Amino acid sequence: MGLKLFNTLSRSIQEFTPLDPAGKQVGMYCCGPTVYDFAHIGNWRTFVFADLVRRYLTFKGYTVTHVMNITDVEDKIIKGVREAKSTLREFTGKYEAAFLEDLKTLNCARPHQMPRATENIAPIIALIEKLVARGIAYKAADGSVYFSIGNYRGSGCTYGRLLKLNLDELRVGERVASDEYDKESVADFALWKARVPEDGDVFWPSPWGNGRPGWHVECSAMSMKILGPTFDLHLGGEDLKFPHHEDEIAQSEGATGSAFVKYWLHGAFLLVEGKKMSKSLGNFFTLRDLLAKGFTGREIRYLLLTAHYRETFNFTLEGLHGARAALARIDECQGKLREASRPLSRPPDTLSPPGGERDGARGMSKLTADFSGALDDDLNISAAWGEVFKWVTETNKHLAANSLSATDAAAELTAWDKIDSVLGIGAPAEIEAPAVIVTLLEARQAARKAKDFKKSDAIRDELKAKGWAVEDTAKGPKLKRI
Ligand SMILES: [Zn+2]
Repeated sequence: MGLKLFNTLSRSIQEFTPLDPAGKQVGMYCCGPTVYDFAHIGNWRTFVFADLVRRYLTFKGYTVTHVMNITDVEDKIIKGVREAKSTLREFTGKYEAAFLEDLKTLNCARPHQMPRATENIAPIIALIEKLVARGIAYKAADGSVYFSIGNYRGSGCTYGRLLKLNLDELRVGERVASDEYDKESVADFALWKARVPEDGDVFWPSPWGNGRPGWHVECSAMSMKILGPTFDLHLGGEDLKFPHHEDEIAQSEGATGSAFVKYWLHGAFLLVEGKKMSKSLGNFFTLRDLLAKGFTGREIRYLLLTAHYRETFNFTLEGLHGARAALARIDECQGKLREASRPLSRPPDTLSPPGGERDGARGMSKLTADFSGALDDDLNISAAWGEVFKWVTETNKHLAANSLSATDAAAELTAWDKIDSVLGIGAPAEIEAPAVIVTLLEARQAARKAKDFKKSDAIRDELKAKGWAVEDTAKGPKLKRI
């Protein structure tokens, strides 16, 4: 069965057919992080969603080129550099490294290419030059270059196709210099920003004088440089539809005259504890905040992967506890299957159960087909998890009845591994205690060494409250998930 996806461009569910005539290669671009702070859990929902798309396409046999940009020059970054009295590279490097580390913690496959805006100034300038040459961009009095919505529309192109903006009702023609502007007016936006004193030494020479690129144009320039003028998939959070993605389409199609992207996929918002995330409400979490509470990347990934990407998802700490319990069910089942798959550990007569008992086992090996049937339907991940837990229940039943041969058990483990290449939650053996837990364990060891047993007991209780037990063994202390 073929994969069907909801394309924001057509507002309908469409069969996925790659542009590659051989039907094999897929180019996929997802807007990456702006490295001025740690990414929050709402950002991570989008990146985990992109990881799911990439992994599932790979599962379906496609060869995916996954590109994600690193926005390392932008209004908020310049402000951060100024405030931190740092250099651009030093400031962004710190957050870029943290982003890559977090990506790993969540077991997201690293994008094949992660171009930085600051290392792609030449293709950005070349794209702006093309737009100027075609009369779609113009230099303003301050030396900045703007994209002209009016001239773009005048050349027969439609602006606002993702949102179906009614331009006749909106004010058009005002100019906006900031990277993020409000949704009330469709305005000419900055492609190149002339240097101002606040930029410090963050600037590059260009045909229009010293300055720096706007945010929107970097995605057009870098995606097309790597994936070509027309590519298959563009992903991002739904908050990026306007103006960012509308601007990307306008810049790219305005410059090349060809269609930019075949399928646009947008991930929905994330609420935390029922509300929009905000620092003042105390429900603003970076990935690191959640790790510090004792949760693992695996649990957070699982929770982020439970809801359909087009549904607003309510992320809660209670949900993370639920994720822990759900993973424990999967892990327990896998552990038993692994045991049952070792022929020597079982009496010989159970190696080949009589025919009647094999019916159930035959039914179970449908796991891969049922799972991919669910995901083919616009990545219906909740239905896919439904299939996983149905499989866990059935497997447990067969294990309890001792009706699985070692070969059957091994086949079920293989099926699990296949679908886990998409889910990416890994095997329980791969679980590592988060850094904050390891630090606590080390502190407990130090307290014990100093014979401060009151302190070491208090740390043990703290670990317990965070869901970890300490077992003192001959080889030293061992952490165990409660
Ligand atoms: Zn982008």
